[in-house]
Amino acid sequence: MIDCDQARALLPVAMDKALAEEHQGDLAMHLQNCGPCATLERTLQATIQLSAWPGQEIPLPPTLGQAVVEAVRAAKLAANPPAEDAGDDPPSGPAAENGSV
Ligand SMILES: [Zn+2]
Repeated sequence: MIDCDQARALLPVAMDKALAEEHQGDLAMHLQNCGPCATLERTLQATIQLSAWPGQEIPLPPTLGQAVVEAVRAAKLAANPPAEDAGDDPPSGPAAENGSV
């Protein structure tokens, strides 16, 4: 009988069909008696099936790097607006002039 640590170490090996037969029996027995490890096995299997899906590899658009750079630059500008433009549109101007008279 193997414990959870051993089962979780064996699971990826079993997924690769590289697990020795003697360990396959131990692992199967553990999974029958251990819900968390059985869940982990199903999760691993689902992940492997997804990653083996044909056409799963999605090429990143070549403009992604530039888009990230521009997004970071815009975020920095929003956090620290250039000081020389402050004269045109003061953020804390006198609001009283716009009141209803
Ligand atoms: Zn377990």
